[in-house]
Amino acid sequence: MTRRAIDVGRGRCDCSRMKATSAAPDAGPSAPASVPSTAPTPTRGDDYKFFEVVQGYLSRAGDLIGLPMHIRNMLAQPKNELIVHFPVRMDDGSMRMFKGYRIQHNNLLGPYKGGLRFHHTVSLDDLKALATMMTWKGALMEIPFGGAKGGVKVDTRGLSRDELMRVTRRFTHALGNNIGPNYDIPAPDVGTSAQVMVWIMDTYMNQVDHGAKNAQRAVVTGKTITCGGSQGRNKATAQGVVHCITEWAKDNRFDLEGKTAIIQGFGNVGSHSALLLSKLGVSTVAVGDHSGYLFSKEGFNPHKLSEYVAQHGSIAGYDSGEPITREEFFATKADLFIPAALENQIGEAEARALDVRLVAEGANGPCNPAGEKILESKGIPIIPDVLANSGGVTVSYYEWVQNLNSQSWDLAEVDGRLEKAMKTAYQRVQYFAQEHGVSQRIAAYALALERLGRAYDERGIFP
Ligand code: NAD
Repeated sequence: MTRRAIDVGRGRCDCSRMKATSAAPDAGPSAPASVPSTAPTPTRGDDYKFFEVVQGYLSRAGDLIGLPMHIRNMLAQPKNELIVHFPVRMDDGSMRMFKGYRIQHNNLLGPYKGGLRFHHTVSLDDLKALATMMTWKGALMEIPFGGAKGGVKVDTRGLSRDELMRVTRRFTHALGNNIGPNYDIPAPDVGTSAQVMVWIMDTYMNQVDHGAKNAQRAVVTGKTITCGGSQGRNKATAQGVVHCITEWAKDNRFDLEGKTAIIQGFGNVGSHSALLLSKLGVSTVAVGDHSGYLFSKEGFNPHKLSEYVAQHGSIAGYDSGEPITREEFFATKADLFIPAALENQIGEAEARALDVRLVAEGANGPCNPAGEKILESKGIPIIPDVLANSGGVTVSYYEWVQNLNSQSWDLAEVDGRLEKAMKTAYQRVQYFAQEHGVSQRIAAYALALERLGRAYDERGIFP
């Protein structure tokens, strides 16, 4: 296969957004437990420019470290933006067209790396922002990966399992060798799973020479263990978030035992965060997802709730806790808040309502700049996404190394390496932030940019 020219989509912007709707019905604090509203919860305003927000942080951190303008300009835009349209036969025999994306931001430090999102709000602007942040994560965690992100604009809830498989396989076929184990390595994100990664791997392997087939396993990470995934990858992002929280607690002499958390998003990152926090004695008292929000004074059983969500696809109908509105969720008093859903969830109103001691960003870009400003003025620290959720890409790197070397590490090995990596990164960010009097977000960006800047400096510009 020859790699296709990849600039077909540069400059095209599909900015359609989920319309902000009214919040789920207010059931009141004494309402009996019942099915929360399945009406879509507000996500974002129509005019939110996520990529501009990330570019703004790049600019601030670049100023701080005196990053030369030519390097800043190279990092301000993705190298490649690919948009594909592909047909899929649906179960009823009809044929539907889908739109897929792969944004390759930077590969200075290693192959492009980043998740694939299957969601109806997927847009070029968001993926450019998310791909850019992946470059910072690789650089900050000192792993040899660049940054990428991609996805398909689709509401997976309306697809059967077979349809999801065919969408995945046709998308992989459309990407062709614009992905590859040494070139661009996708991973799971919102709406994709270990199963989706295995379908991608299988499709990709079947497109290459017979003899090279098995060497291509590393084309994706986040696979099932049976098909070459790594121990600990499933919980890795949440595990990284929790390592950051324990470091913060240690630094602030804050005993986590007996404390409370609220978690928005109860998919991979949210559910594993609740499970891991429960092991530290932290109970999750409010949760929310696309279907609505629930409160439980005693705290939810994270195992039961996770099993329920795995079976039913959301928290809707869970028979414990009481339904609350989105506004009530954000106003729930707790020690920790873990956003683990989508970007731009914490704006001014949410930040004003939040009554927590710490925000640890499991999601990418959950606080918008206005929300962040208010949290700062309230003295609520934020452990930023590029640090907090980088456990995912770190264990993806371990999976890739295992695949390339035909190795299989046990859970203790993976967990030990991740713990060391997360704690080191947390302390570096913390130290830099204190030394320069900046937020942890700007510190994380600055450390990533310093590394990228040095690499550009040493390599020079070809020719
Ligand atoms: P997921 O698909 O497993 O879960 C997403 C959750 O968000 C679901 O519970 C969904 O119902 C909820 N959600 C969707 N729309 C919502 C809305 N409008 N309001 C409230 N909740 C809503 O996805 P995930 O992998 O857990 O990813 C969650 C976040 O973490 C994303 O920002 C993703 O980019 C980030 N992240 C994920 C990983 C990873 O390894 N999976 C790594 C780094 C960062």
